[in-house]
Amino acid sequence: MYSMPLYRPPSEASSLIIQITEGCSHNRCRFCTMYKCKQFRLKSKEELDEHIKWLKAYYLEPERIFLADGNVLCLQTEKLIQLLERVKREFPSVKRISSYSGPMDLIRKTDDELRSIREAGLELLYMGVESGSDRVLSMMQKGVNQQQMIEAGQKAVKAGFRFSCMIISGLGGTELMKEHALESAKVISAINPHYFSLLRLVVEDESELADDIEQGRFKLLTPIQILDENILMLENMELNDCVFRANHVSNYVNQAGTLNRDRDELVARLKKFRDSNKFIPMGSDRL
Ligand code: SF4
Repeated sequence: MYSMPLYRPPSEASSLIIQITEGCSHNRCRFCTMYKCKQFRLKSKEELDEHIKWLKAYYLEPERIFLADGNVLCLQTEKLIQLLERVKREFPSVKRISSYSGPMDLIRKTDDELRSIREAGLELLYMGVESGSDRVLSMMQKGVNQQQMIEAGQKAVKAGFRFSCMIISGLGGTELMKEHALESAKVISAINPHYFSLLRLVVEDESELADDIEQGRFKLLTPIQILDENILMLENMELNDCVFRANHVSNYVNQAGTLNRDRDELVARLKKFRDSNKFIPMGSDRL
């Protein structure tokens, strides 16, 4: 049984999800409603025993396992290593274990601790960078600044994790659109993750950002501005062999390629859509 709601990255759609923690230990970002109804906590040993027993009845030989909820990496290193050993024992067929990672969790752990966690079997980490701009990060109450985001990402890559970063297109609003594009390009380039995905800001009615919009403190980008921002961001990326995806349901234009190798082609495609009078955005502002 899971404690709902339950989230995982799109690329973990076929993974077995083991819910080690509930919620997000930060839980303050103004645009995010994912875990607002949950108090962050680690499941007790008894709960975890029961949970794993239940999962084993349904998933016989999972090859991919995602550890939920928000940031399992905030567990003490010893505890996390023991957990990873247990997951491998209980599901010997597993070939890849992944989880979300909060920037402060990565910063708090030493390089040696991160390497031990990697060696214990956690292979792929996802980090929501959201924006590279200090002003946008602060406005959204992300709890870290640009430098910390870079430090966290570089530590993860150095420790040997496969690393996936995500930026939210439109998160600077009209006022900080250019800064959001340029500074996000700077942070992603400095980290040079293995995977980079671009989602579009979708505002949930229950979020604090919805109030900001209502009160006139934040102005959403138009679809054309979103494409302009995406173009500026991609034009300023300096990446080596990074798998890029913008194929989430929120994206106006589906994009996939490898950066920087395919950058010119990706930018040209975005410009073609932007300049086309047939450009009709998919989805809506509030999915
Ligand atoms: S965006 Fe991530 S860190 Fe921020 S509240 Fe949501 S889950 Fe937590």
